[in-house]
Amino acid sequence: MSRAVTEALPDTVVELAGVARTYPGGVHALRGVNLRITRGELVAVVGASGSGKSTLLNLIGTLDRADEGRVAVAGQDVAALSDARLSALRARHIGFVFQQFHLAPGRDAVDNVADGLLYAGVPRRERRIRARDALERVGLDHRLGHRPGALSGGEKQRVAIARALAGEPDLLLADEPTGALDTASGQVVMELLHELHRAGTTVVVITHDNDIANSLPRRVRLRDGRIVADSAALAGRGAA
Ligand code: ADP
Ligand code: MG
Repeated sequence: MSRAVTEALPDTVVELAGVARTYPGGVHALRGVNLRITRGELVAVVGASGSGKSTLLNLIGTLDRADEGRVAVAGQDVAALSDARLSALRARHIGFVFQQFHLAPGRDAVDNVADGLLYAGVPRRERRIRARDALERVGLDHRLGHRPGALSGGEKQRVAIARALAGEPDLLLADEPTGALDTASGQVVMELLHELHRAGTTVVVITHDNDIANSLPRRVRLRDGRIVADSAALAGRGAA
């Protein structure tokens, strides 16, 4: 890539070009995917179950590698990085939120959030301070010592969001974050994602919920592993 082209795209956080992912057994989960996400965007990924949404998010999050094509995150070509370097990239740049929360059942809210900073190499005392700050940001300062079993679904997801944001990620990836929640808790979670977006974080959220998707500024639709619509293309902001 020439210097001029690099300079023309300084704000690209995620770039996928010609990406394919085929699982063992021959399932073509993604094919021919081109996607560029710019710093500060809030993007919904939509599509039927099995259309490749989670596969796409896992590739963007460097939890998985493409079989074909190029994936670059935060300016780094993922294929060129060792697993150790990828872990460091994730710890420095990416936060994850999943439908099923993925909290450690035996650890209280502060520990669950603080443990998320282990790979970022943050000292224990600072981990706990940052965990408390993050829990306060999601409105859970009254639940610091509660274990997941003593929290509602919405509270668990707010702990998971606190864990993601404690690392001060540039990119937050959420896979059906409201999928296991009642409507009111889901709205609180979406409001938090909007707040993070307003504060400058790039957010990519997979959702089955049309109301949620329609409330977001950009929608990328997958069908059978391909991007079949991208509202950014309509607005003239990107390819796909
Ligand atoms: P979505 O998140 O949109 O429901 P996925 O990305 O999870 O879709 O899956 C896309 C396709 O890949 C589906 O056909 C699914 O069954 C298949 N798939 C997902 N993960 C695996 C895996 N680890 N091994 C084999 N097939 C998989
Ligand atoms: Mg999925």
